Amino acid sequence: MKNKFKPESLMMSYGYKPKLSEGAVKCPIFQTSTFVFETAEEGKKFFELAYGLREKEKEEELGLIYSRINNPNLEILENRLSLWDDADDSAVFESGMSAISTVLLEFLKPGDLLLYSSPTYGGTDHFIHDFLPKIGVDAVAFHPENTQEEIEEIIRNTGKADRLGLIYIETPANPTNTIIDIEMCCRIAKKHKNNTDRTYVCVDNTYMGPVWSKPLALGADLVVYSATKFIGGHSDLIAGAVLGKSDLMTRVKTLRTFLGNMVSPHTAWLLLRSLETLKIRMEKQSRNAQKVANFLNQHEKVEKVNYLGLIDEQSAHYDLYKRQYNSPGAMISFNIVGGEKEAFQFLNNLNLIQLAVSLGSTESLAQHPQTMTHCAIEPKARERMGVTANLVRVSIGVEDAEDLIADVDNALKSVV
Ligand SMILES: *Cc1c(COP(=O)(O)O)cnc(C)c1O
Repeated sequence: MKNKFKPESLMMSYGYKPKLSEGAVKCPIFQTSTFVFETAEEGKKFFELAYGLREKEKEEELGLIYSRINNPNLEILENRLSLWDDADDSAVFESGMSAISTVLLEFLKPGDLLLYSSPTYGGTDHFIHDFLPKIGVDAVAFHPENTQEEIEEIIRNTGKADRLGLIYIETPANPTNTIIDIEMCCRIAKKHKNNTDRTYVCVDNTYMGPVWSKPLALGADLVVYSATKFIGGHSDLIAGAVLGKSDLMTRVKTLRTFLGNMVSPHTAWLLLRSLETLKIRMEKQSRNAQKVANFLNQHEKVEKVNYLGLIDEQSAHYDLYKRQYNSPGAMISFNIVGGEKEAFQFLNNLNLIQLAVSLGSTESLAQHPQTMTHCAIEPKARERMGVTANLVRVSIGVEDAEDLIADVDNALKSVV
């Protein structure tokens, strides 16, 4: 049945059996730490499976033991979330950062090399540079404009090409919407081996969100999300997710059991509610964003708009955009004519769009990357990635498009 209906049709019911919850049409919150076994024999069987002491019998599911290992809210959420990316399985975490750091810890060993795309999310960048060296993992960056040949040279120049454990990419890049070719990264990974293990490719798909892009179908081994953004979508929770093939997900879930960074039953329940409207929210957000981007693009006080929907059809980039995404998404950044002063005047004069970081939510948010989300990046590197004093980032929500345009228009008018 799983493959017959589209994900949006299954978000209200998939994986939940009302019979097990007094017929409740909605999955209740299983706010419990532990679960009662019917017999000691049953408890023994559950533990054997949970700790890998024997193989699963046919059709056997892991029984409920303890909420750090499993919980109905967590399991139903993970089953439903997997549908969007056609993943075998997913693991949901208490934050995007805990999902990302768990992947980096599981797939990198002392002596390994990590290749990552720059710019990457500030928290990820910090973990790569301030924590991974302590466990003997080196990292090297490449940039969106680098060709496959250039990236292979970057790897060779480290002298550790035979220890490439993981390629970690973030695309489209925040805040400039630059695209990195996932299939190219998979080709690079195939040419490398980490001692005896394969080199894996992990894509942070937070910025585009699920629905519009399927990195696993393009060959990636793992996808990570900050579920705080489009998946949660209401700016009322922090969560993260990892999706992929079952053998890799078993490794991720086993480490999660011992780090204890799984999402709580309550947050999992909120996410179940969010998933019901994921597609309809994202469709509206993207339609709104296309209108706002077009408005900005013709405005005399706007120098340049970075939005996937505005990529020139004649450019080489257009082909990559079409291969990798089937919507331009809901994230826009633009250079206002002027510098920090003009950018701040614009932000301070918005009335409907709120001044805050984060993204992907029902409400529109605007911020100034250079002095906010990207303030810790070394100035030269920041300039190189296009995060200049006149750059403003806007995450578009589900409001009325004409109201959003009126708000932007009014704020631009107040820039003098
Ligand atoms: C927000 C974000 C993260 C971190 O997620 P948290 O839920 O805040 O821990 C990671 N990657 C990207 C691209 C993000 O936008």
